[in-house]
Amino acid sequence: MIKIIRAKTMGFCFGVKRAVEMAESHPGRLNTLGPLIHNPQEVNRLAQLGKTPIDDLSQASEKIILIRAHGLPDFIIKRAIKLGLKVVDATCPFVKKAQALSQRLEKDGYQVVIIGEKIHPEIIGLVGNLKNPIVVETLEEAKSLGQFKKLGVIAQTTSNTRLVEEISVELKKHAPEVKIAETICQATEEHQQAARELAPRVDVMIVVGGKSSGNTRRLYQICIEYVPAYHIETARELKPEWFKNIKSAGITAGASTPDWVISEVEKTISGI
Ligand code: SF4
Repeated sequence: MIKIIRAKTMGFCFGVKRAVEMAESHPGRLNTLGPLIHNPQEVNRLAQLGKTPIDDLSQASEKIILIRAHGLPDFIIKRAIKLGLKVVDATCPFVKKAQALSQRLEKDGYQVVIIGEKIHPEIIGLVGNLKNPIVVETLEEAKSLGQFKKLGVIAQTTSNTRLVEEISVELKKHAPEVKIAETICQATEEHQQAARELAPRVDVMIVVGGKSSGNTRRLYQICIEYVPAYHIETARELKPEWFKNIKSAGITAGASTPDWVISEVEKTISGI
């Protein structure tokens, strides 16, 4: 029988839990601008409760708009209010902090550099509130930057801590003054650390989370450094051949993976 070990910390983080609870506890129907979290199974469950995602304010079918944990640029919030919609703000406080810090750095004359995924909603929210930020995703992109007087560095809250360290070292070569704001959230650091501790102790790692979830993808990248690892969204994707001749399997999950999805995965592995 395969020994299954769960990572010490994984799954729903504080910000996602808070956003889901705000949506669930709000009486009546509402729209979320974009899927509330990067987990299709949970988004479907919420849609059945009348909390439906829309892609654009013009598609609003309800009077209430809930801002998801990733946040939104101020101009979209203002547009929603102008359209007569009531705005419920479930932006994670850690994202709010990153938004405030980046605006402060820009006000103080720093060229803001954001380390993160250009098309991630959190980064789109950050960029939308700034005049002229630079977004870098890789070390190579950081190396290609020119010289500046002052750089203010912000990282996506769910970034890979090691990559951010590497890029920060590089950015220090691009200006005499470089201010680095601490914006990676504690949940991300704990999830990544727990995955790093567990992966070398097992024969295979199963990483559970939405395919569009950046923090889940980063957990997968960490695990694959140590053992064969598979990123799945649901238990249905598990393949018996992954568990052939192995003694132990580790499970970790992204910050937007609900516990009921993780439990289904665990149950399915134990039946293989
Ligand atoms: S991963 Fe961190 S920043 Fe993102 S919602 Fe969760 S607690 Fe907030």
